[in-house]
Amino acid sequence: ERVPAKGFAMFSAEDTFHPYEFTRHAIGDNDIQIEILYAGICHSDLHAAWDEQQEQGLHAAYPMIPGHEIAGRVAKVGKNVTKFKVGDLAGVGCMVNACGHCSSCEMHKEQFCEKGTTFTYNSRDIYHDGEMAMGGYSDNIVVSENFAIKIPANADLKRVAPLLCAGVTTWSPIHFSNVKKGDKVAVAGYGGLGHMAVQYLVDLGADVTVFDRTEEKRADAARMGATRYVNVNNPEEMKGLRNTFDFIISTIPANYEPIQYVAMLKMGGEMAIVGLPDKSTLNIANMAFLSQRKVYGSLIGGIKETQEMLDYSVAHDIYPEVEIIKADASEIDKAWRNVADGKVKFRYVIDMSTIK
Ligand code: NDP
Ligand code: ZN
Repeated sequence: ERVPAKGFAMFSAEDTFHPYEFTRHAIGDNDIQIEILYAGICHSDLHAAWDEQQEQGLHAAYPMIPGHEIAGRVAKVGKNVTKFKVGDLAGVGCMVNACGHCSSCEMHKEQFCEKGTTFTYNSRDIYHDGEMAMGGYSDNIVVSENFAIKIPANADLKRVAPLLCAGVTTWSPIHFSNVKKGDKVAVAGYGGLGHMAVQYLVDLGADVTVFDRTEEKRADAARMGATRYVNVNNPEEMKGLRNTFDFIISTIPANYEPIQYVAMLKMGGEMAIVGLPDKSTLNIANMAFLSQRKVYGSLIGGIKETQEMLDYSVAHDIYPEVEIIKADASEIDKAWRNVADGKVKFRYVIDMSTIK
């Protein structure tokens, strides 16, 4: 039978949050129900609910309950579940289902499932009669054990949630590009994703440059171990950077010129784009002048990789810097405005246990 749930929903792109009661699909034999304790606020939540992804062919469906950085405790388990028992800590990231046997799933890249990935919200759940998935700004979630991440009991739970998206989205391309000790690397866009990228890169022993557009974060970058901070609004600081980096990750969520950064790669260098600007601005024609540099996109990470990232982060004490807010519609509205205005250091996390 269906599981009652409550959370915070938006009913149109112009709307603000409202308390919302709904139901989730029944707990199947391979499913677990997680009592959600913390939910991170990702910039993707804003893009999705504000319907800013038309260029990517993504359209918003309402009511929408965002949230794909979820940490909590297992409340119920289906009869075939082996990975979890009631009381364990568990997390959910950006996806909740996939076919499990296409070539992408077999490569542990369920986010590219050929039959169709069900993302955590604003996504049609083809594995459950096509109902719309509802995200983590809510009190519980029902998910297949295969798509739940085990959280070690000693983890600092209130800081774990953002690892499930911001963590894995930066971890994945850093490892895909084989970044190693001594590499010269750059992180463009120093927010929720960016500050995780800086920490993983510093941990690997890379020499890290941070690009952002404010003076407010210069000291934070040094504190996190970056060797250089560049304010992109300062033309002097932007000079002399051609042919500098082995690897660049861009998390910039607004329109910018990716080609500027491509030009900063050494020959053979690689740039991963994970930010979602609302218009594509990469002028491919100009790439001819920048031969032999590689640019690729990257979307979150597979479940196996997410588990590896989480275990590594907890073991090495690598966490996001979080600001905890109450589970209240107007608090979430306020936090969203601050994310849009760049006033968060570095991730908001909703304490879902305070939901009324
Ligand atoms: P945040 O808002 O936390 O961080 C973005 C940062 O980029 C902010 O520090 C912002 O500065 C900075 N910035 C904005 N414009 C520029 C610019 N022109 N040059 C340099 N820095 C700039 O967002 P998130 O980290 O949560 O998300 C980043 C992007 O990644 C979003 O587009 C999100 O949708 C996407 N994303 C992609 C995923 C994937 O799988 N590919 C997964 C998750 C997120 P300021 O503080 O001044 O605004
Ligand atoms: Zn996200």
